Amino acid sequence: MSSHLPLSPLQPFSLADWPHKAPRVWVKRDDLIHPIVSGNKWRKLAHVEISRSKHVVSIGGGYSNHLHALGFKCIQQGVRFTALVRGDYSKNLTPMLKDLTNWGCELHWLSKKEYAVRDTSAFQSWIDSTFSKPLFIPEGGSTKLALKGIGDMMLEIDKQAINQLGFTPTTFIAPVASGATLAGIASGAKADSSVLGIAVLKGESYLQQQVARFLPDTATNWQITHDYTFGGYAKSTPSLKSFCEQVYQQTQLSIEPVYSGKAFFAVDALVKQHAFRATDNLIVVHTGGLQGAR
Ligand SMILES: *Cc1c(COP(=O)(O)O)cnc(C)c1O
Repeated sequence: MSSHLPLSPLQPFSLADWPHKAPRVWVKRDDLIHPIVSGNKWRKLAHVEISRSKHVVSIGGGYSNHLHALGFKCIQQGVRFTALVRGDYSKNLTPMLKDLTNWGCELHWLSKKEYAVRDTSAFQSWIDSTFSKPLFIPEGGSTKLALKGIGDMMLEIDKQAINQLGFTPTTFIAPVASGATLAGIASGAKADSSVLGIAVLKGESYLQQQVARFLPDTATNWQITHDYTFGGYAKSTPSLKSFCEQVYQQTQLSIEPVYSGKAFFAVDALVKQHAFRATDNLIVVHTGGLQGAR
């Protein structure tokens, strides 16, 4: 394992119209970890022992990077995989659902009502009886093991920043949906640094709870900003889309409007609002997600 570390580079990032006293910004390029498996989903699944079960079941939306990543890993390891998908896409498969069927995964459509009760014990019993006690991995792959995988990334960043590039990170920034990525960053961050999550969907107390459920009450080094949801999950605007294009033209960094686009948009806005000190070193985690942008 260790000979392959780090899994992704840490690179400087800036935009032409940033103010003179902008902080230094670095991108952890987890989008480069794997050509098919989305970066943070790769990290979150790294410690899940898929090959120890006969059948894996998980749940998500029709564009879920998590279902896509997990399906790929299961098939690679010869394990049966069933995706419980919110909504019926049978007449209109998304590119990601097409990949899953091409790989030999099974799709099971859930109504919105069924999906809404996904966190109840009745739903768990339904899974156990319908699929005869599979290994069930919750939405987004957000489990305690996911935090361990994100913790590996934090160790890499420390080594790259402190040992190779000669700086100490002051702030970590990442998009937030099901919460384990930000929780993993918050638990891996050193005491004198802070962690800022960029909400990519609406629901302030929901997202707060999604992250907090993995952390001790004493963890106070993190917060979430809800100013850059652009109206909700996968919602976008012309200004977000043109920002993504502008970033690509200036830096050759590909970002997409669902996750990384919102995170970088927030960084750009906050830098221009002088929300950081010129001496700060920000680490923006590029979580991947480019498969979902197809
Ligand atoms: C799933 C995902 C996220 C959100 O991570 P959570 O751990 O669910 O909060 C961020 N970026 C990308 C690209 C994702 O696929």
